[in-house]
Amino acid sequence: MAAAQLVLYRRDLRTEDHAALAHAMAAGPTVALYVLDDAADGRPLGSAARWWLHHALTRLASRLARLGVPLVLRRGDQNAWVLALANQLRAGGVYWSRRYTPWGIAADTALKVALRERGLTAESFTGSHLSEPWSVQTRQGGWFKVFTSFYKAALAQGEPAMPLAEPSAQVWPEGLAPLARETLNDWRLLPIAPEWAAGLRQAWPADLGASEDRFARFIAQALVAYRDDRNRPDVGGTSALSPYLAFGELSPRQIWHAVRHATAAEPRRKDGAEAFLRELVWRDFSTNLLYHFPELPVRPFQEKFHAFPWRQDAAALVAWQQGRTGYPWIDAGMRQLRATGWMHNRVRMGVASFLTKHLMLSWRAGEAWFWDTLVDADPAQNIANWQWVAGCGADAAPYFRIFNPISQGEKFDPCGRYLKRWQPSARGYDAGAAGISPIVAHKDARERALAAFAKL
Ligand code: FAD
Repeated sequence: MAAAQLVLYRRDLRTEDHAALAHAMAAGPTVALYVLDDAADGRPLGSAARWWLHHALTRLASRLARLGVPLVLRRGDQNAWVLALANQLRAGGVYWSRRYTPWGIAADTALKVALRERGLTAESFTGSHLSEPWSVQTRQGGWFKVFTSFYKAALAQGEPAMPLAEPSAQVWPEGLAPLARETLNDWRLLPIAPEWAAGLRQAWPADLGASEDRFARFIAQALVAYRDDRNRPDVGGTSALSPYLAFGELSPRQIWHAVRHATAAEPRRKDGAEAFLRELVWRDFSTNLLYHFPELPVRPFQEKFHAFPWRQDAAALVAWQQGRTGYPWIDAGMRQLRATGWMHNRVRMGVASFLTKHLMLSWRAGEAWFWDTLVDADPAQNIANWQWVAGCGADAAPYFRIFNPISQGEKFDPCGRYLKRWQPSARGYDAGAAGISPIVAHKDARERALAAFAKL
């Protein structure tokens, strides 16, 4: 009988286009392991991401069950559990999708060494990106700090590899004992008191086919106009696939090739498709930044921002978090986030700009709030985007470009549909239109931020 194999799951919770699973199952009877390890993302998962994880693991367990692969759940130190389970199973090999975060690389490198010292096969694969962060290089062999150059170089490498098919089902060998498992409910990932997840449940159906349905709807209805409508929170012009990508329930290669296929069938989608696929490359770009600049979570990418005089103002931070700034565009976004665990990108940029420029609070405070409240919270995307909006990131919008929270709303939600949905008491986008006095006057706040920036 072939030795048992172990596949270690992290942010790659799927069975299709999964090289690690395919290799493990080709080598012998396979067991899947997910370890709830608070160090996996450098800090514990936020509340909304824990909610998502519960459902994503439920879906993964069903998919694996169809393949005859048991999913073992454990809590604690990832590497200790992998070694213990490999030992218990007398496993021949352990397989996983690569991570590119500093803490992920450190843990996985140590794991590889420990497994190989014990004589086991330990193999890692590309999993959740279009390309490895070290593979898109400048002509001099360096790494890109500017998106457009990264994008061109990534495209010059040709189309990403085709996604892998799901492996065929296995029959669990009789000689192998069934494994004791923790249950998902033991982990209490879902909120109980207070039970705040009703809006999330409504926004994100938990069933197995939800991601495919959402993607198919996006292709049929929104892809064609994506280039224009991606900036309009009122028309649902984006895919809302980010949480599925963040937890690896869909791979970017699957999405890439499905979009190519849909465009070949309907060429008028070409323009929208190019713009949409470009966003997938942005995702790779953020990962590339964190991989090559591992201090990104704690240091501004641009050195000069070390000296920036971020303010401390707990009351202003709470008003922003709760959607009580008096600016309906900002407050609608923050309310959408609290209710659904997601916010449209255009509004994310607006609320992040407001926090870091109008309120002059550190991007790290905003990033931490997003980490706790986003279902798609992802270390590289969240940190790189926050630094980008704050002006201190790579290839960032200059700090002096300050979004106007009134005209942004009027421009991107011209009929007020988004406003009506998330801030129904407001009568327009002017500050105070929701009956709350604005926390800062736009003109004064802008001047204060520009003066602080000028001193850098
Ligand atoms: P679509 O427009 O349909 O794009 C398709 C996919 O491309 C997205 O699902 C996403 O994976 C990727 N993508 C789109 N825009 C970006 C971008 N600006 N940067 C990187 N990838 C992108 N995205 C996250 O996935 N996790 C985060 O934690 C996160 N935090 C953010 C924080 C701030 C302050 C800002 C401004 C943006 C953040 N984003 C984050 C990026 C972006 O807002 C979301 O990816 C996007 O809104 C998801 O919606 P969608 O799936 O409909 O995107």
